[in-house]
Amino acid sequence: MKKTTPNPSFSLLGVLCSLIGHHYVTTNKITEHIYEYQCTHCGSEVTNGISGDLEPLTFKNKEVNACLASFFKKKHRVSIQ
Ligand SMILES: [Zn+2]
Repeated sequence: MKKTTPNPSFSLLGVLCSLIGHHYVTTNKITEHIYEYQCTHCGSEVTNGISGDLEPLTFKNKEVNACLASFFKKKHRVSIQ
């Protein structure tokens, strides 16, 4: 059986993030106040939670954001007309 070893550069960057913090860039705008971010070092994804703090971008959070984005676009379209 072949063993998989973790990518050394990935774990090094993970340590870097734990020392100096993640360097997030915006990857997706959901609403005026909710965004999705990705760390340029380790690739971890987070989003704005209900409390306003950053939460891990789980599958459930992605679904919630997709619904919010759809709702926000519809609401925005109605308010323009
Ligand atoms: Zn990171």
